[in-house]
This record gives sequence, structure tokens and C-alpha cells, in this order.
Amino acid sequence: MKQSNLQHKHGVDSAISHHLSDETILDYATGSLGKPMETLIACHLTVCWYCRDRNALADDIGGELLTEQKAVRPSLSAQQLLSAARTRPEIVVSKQRSESGDASVPCALGRLLPGPIESLDWRLVAPGVKQFPLNDQPRKEGAFKLLRLEPGVTLSQHSHTDRELTYVVRGSYQDKFGQFKAGDIADLDDHHDHQPVVDEAEVCIALIATDAPVKYRSVLGKIMQPFVGI
Ligand SMILES: [Zn+2]
Repeated sequence: MKQSNLQHKHGVDSAISHHLSDETILDYATGSLGKPMETLIACHLTVCWYCRDRNALADDIGGELLTEQKAVRPSLSAQQLLSAARTRPEIVVSKQRSESGDASVPCALGRLLPGPIESLDWRLVAPGVKQFPLNDQPRKEGAFKLLRLEPGVTLSQHSHTDRELTYVVRGSYQDKFGQFKAGDIADLDDHHDHQPVVDEAEVCIALIATDAPVKYRSVLGKIMQPFVGI
């Protein structure tokens, strides 16, 4: 998990443990992500003022570069850009806090659903794993799905060929990066592999978006992949 390069003077919202990477914030601010990724990010920004602030900074940087017609050096990294933002004299800090950790569905997700989560036409794709697809694009172009995971379910270990974002709507799961609770976002790329295990306390509802199919480690995972569709 990439650590954010930008430390907020008020600290990070204690209810949210996992945030968007600098790279993803900048890609979002420059409009280079597709609708699935944008939807997940919008969900997280609803509940996380820390990432909202970083997104506002990224917007400022992008707007300034455009309006002043400054050349953007291709060698400038995401970390350098956000480090530069820290030296800006005025940083608008949003103190607004949204509820997190509750069962509410963010608007960005809710408007894509035909009804309440409980009444969706869930499809069983593996023991303890149901899914509700949010688009019908070919699997090779990535996935955009809501997953409903029974307590205690272990997903197959996998890595990624590209970015994978997971937003936890309800419940929680754990992997080697820690525990992910409602409101958290897992921002993984091709350097990461993980094996999520759903916590026993309750069903976990997770929104997932990928740019390309994940790479399963096990033969069983590979066999199941066409059915799971991620
Ligand atoms: Zn965040």
C-alpha cells in the first residue's frame, strides 16, 4: 500500500484507515480515469475529508499549471507535485466530516443501483461470494462490481496487472495491508498481491473496479475467474 506523501496538519480521520494514493488522486484530478474508478473515488471522498483536501490541492495544481501555461515536465512525479503543494501559502482545509463506518450507501454508488442493496439481484459466483455487475464490459477491460461476501470467506490470493480499487460499503475484511472497514479504500497496483479474508462479524459489501483482470495465484482461482469475473 502506497503511503500518502501529504501529511495533514490535523491528522487523518481516525475512522478511515486506508486512503487513495497520490498517483490516484492526481489521475482523478486530471480526469484520466474511467467511470468505475471515478465512482469508487467519489464514494471515498464522500466520507474522507483527508482525501478531499488532497484532491482539492491536486485540482489547484492542475488548474494553475493550465492557466499559467506552464510546461509540465514529464519527469515530475506525483510525489513531487504534492510536495510542491505543501509549500503553497494557503491551503483550504475542509473541516466537514461525514459519517463513516455506517451502513449508508454513498450517492455516487446509490444512483447506479436499481434498489436497496438487500434487494439486488445478486448472483452466486463462488461459495460465500455473490456479485452484482455494474456494467457489462468485457472482462479483459476490467471489472466494475458490487460484491457481497459472507463472514469468514477467504478470497483467492491474487495480484494485479494494473490498478485495483476496492471501496468497503459495509462490514470489513483483512489482508496483509491491515483491516479495511466501511469507508476505507484499498488502492492497489501491480506491485501488490493480497488475499482478503472477510471478518466474522457481518456480511461485507465491497465495490470493486479494476483496469484489467487480476492474476490469481492458485489453479482454483484461475478456474473460478471466468465465473467471478474479476
Ligand atoms: Zn481518504
